[in-house]
Amino acid sequence: MEKLLEDFISFVQNENFNLYLKITVIIFLALHFSIVIWIARDASNRSRNLLFQIFFVFLGMLIPLFGLIFYLLLRPGKLIFEKVLDGFENFAQRNCCFFCGEVIREDFKFCPHCSEELYQKCEKCNKNFSKSFPLCPYCGEKINLEKLKKQVSEQKKETKKKKIAEKTIEKTSKK
Ligand SMILES: [Zn+2]
Ligand SMILES: [Zn+2]
Repeated sequence: MEKLLEDFISFVQNENFNLYLKITVIIFLALHFSIVIWIARDASNRSRNLLFQIFFVFLGMLIPLFGLIFYLLLRPGKLIFEKVLDGFENFAQRNCCFFCGEVIREDFKFCPHCSEELYQKCEKCNKNFSKSFPLCPYCGEKINLEKLKKQVSEQKKETKKKKIAEKTIEKTSKK
């Protein structure tokens, strides 16, 4: 037993052991600080809240590994730029022409790209609203989709006729 203890003490006092210990500590510290830096960068990509960022960086520094696990469990699911992209997509969908899909302003009555009328009149309350809505936003009256489709196709035919008529007028006036 004494021999074993002596062996152990001589091993600990050995220069090689000190070197291994130093290398292990350096590797651990490097790993630890790269995890903390990663948390700081990821947190700033996921939240603009400075308190949130500082809290998790400190947690990561104070409790190795568990700080990282807590952060991964509690961090926001989406990156800031993903949220911005989602918002932009929603914005674009809300402000697209019902007929040609081009981006338009919400208060436009006619599409400047395809010249279609964008508003419909509610049969119940007589208020105007976008043709892209499935029901009247003022009284809740559901829109008869079949009727709307017919109206739309008739409207398209009429605008086509108008365009053809305009062209023929242009042609005849040029002659
Ligand atoms: Zn259009
Ligand atoms: Zn209505």
